[in-house]
Amino acid sequence: MPLGSFARPLPGCRTLTTNDGALAALQQWGPASANRDTAMLGFVTIPVTAFEQNATLIWCEETREAAWVDPGGSPERLLAAARERKLELRQILLTHGHLDHVGAARELADMAEIPIIGPGEADRFWLEQLPMQARMFGTAEVKAFLPDRWLHEGDQVQVGRQLLDVYHCPGHTPGHVIFHHAPSQLALVGDVLFAGSIGRTDFPRGNHRDLLDSIAAKLWPLGSETRFIPGHGPMSTFGEERRSNPFVADQVLGGR
Ligand SMILES: [Zn+2]
Repeated sequence: MPLGSFARPLPGCRTLTTNDGALAALQQWGPASANRDTAMLGFVTIPVTAFEQNATLIWCEETREAAWVDPGGSPERLLAAARERKLELRQILLTHGHLDHVGAARELADMAEIPIIGPGEADRFWLEQLPMQARMFGTAEVKAFLPDRWLHEGDQVQVGRQLLDVYHCPGHTPGHVIFHHAPSQLALVGDVLFAGSIGRTDFPRGNHRDLLDSIAAKLWPLGSETRFIPGHGPMSTFGEERRSNPFVADQVLGGR
């Protein structure tokens, strides 16, 4: 499907809300804040691209093997961030096919000689149309690529000795997946859910009902204590969003 149906340039993939100013003020955790309080799975997020996409490096604290999740841009910087931490970069994981999440994936994979894993195959059209996405957003040329492996509901990806569960969460894009590390109650949700908002669904093959279903049926069962790293903006917990998110709080979804 052509991408000409975009109504306006991407302000990011987040559905805008009236309190965006307040949210922006909360984004004090970039550009390279680290969190080491999970003993088994380390992570650091570095916002990349003009859309401040949260490229996230995750690693096994035991083996020091690592993966970049959604490397949207600045491949040299991302490679250096892994090397500075003396991590062995083994793979790239993708949540969905939007340019700001995958723009540096091919280059980084070639530089580090590592595979690209994900997203779901329903996002093939987004990856095949990367050159058009780049033209639309006025970024440097990005070549189309396909991953070494598509992901499906129920798959697991392994980073060192750590296993992350894969859930298919369509709505923002049809092939969107999220990663969940159960032992540390941490999820990487891409553009499905944000602190105070949800992913946009006005793109080709976006579907608002699917997105709400993904959030309620796939994310909420992972537990209210679960922290999540969204594709843009600050971290939150599923419990906090169930209390206060204007789109998917229990009070809102209960009335659907
Ligand atoms: Zn997106």
